[in-house]
Amino acid sequence: MIDCAYCQRPLICDGCQTPYLPPSQEYYEALSRPEIPLHCPNCEQIVVCHWCKTPYDGQGDEVDEESEA
Ligand SMILES: [Zn+2]
Ligand SMILES: [Zn+2]
Repeated sequence: MIDCAYCQRPLICDGCQTPYLPPSQEYYEALSRPEIPLHCPNCEQIVVCHWCKTPYDGQGDEVDEESEA
């Protein structure tokens, strides 16, 4: 199980409720690189953490005003 880089809880895709499993070491390393977007291999959408609702969309962890809504 991979931990969310933001809330440290098991990373579960909020779209399909499936634990995110990186298909390769390359994707695993991408978890710690916020500029690389992650797509769920199951539902093929941007991975959004089920717990903290943080999207792994390659926007980094800069303050995003839209996430307040
Ligand atoms: Zn999280
Ligand atoms: Zn998914």
